[in-house]
Amino acid sequence: MATRRERIISLLEERDYSVSELAQVLGIRGKGSKRLILEDIRAIQKVLKREGKVLLIKPAECRKCGFRFKPEINIPSRCPRCKSEWIEEPRFMIAGR
Ligand SMILES: [Zn+2]
Repeated sequence: MATRRERIISLLEERDYSVSELAQVLGIRGKGSKRLILEDIRAIQKVLKREGKVLLIKPAECRKCGFRFKPEINIPSRCPRCKSEWIEEPRFMIAGR
C-alpha cells in the first residue's frame, strides 16, 4: 500500500492540485490537515530533486486585489496589500526534466 506521500506524488504527476483539493482526495480532515500536507509537499520537493524532477508552484493570489504571493510551499492567510483574507491557494504539480 502506498504511503500518503507516495499518493501525493502520483496525484501531482497527473495534474496540479491545491492543498485543499489534496486533503479532499486523500480523505484527510480536520484541524492541522493542511499543515500536514504542506509538510508532505516540502519533503516531496527534496526527494524530487534527487530524481531529476521539479515541483512547479503556481503562487497564491489575493482574490480581492489580485496581489501575487511568492511561489512558496505555504498558504498565506492575509493579503499584505489590501488585508483581505480571501486568498486563492497556491497550486502544485510535478514535472520531469
Ligand atoms: Zn489583496
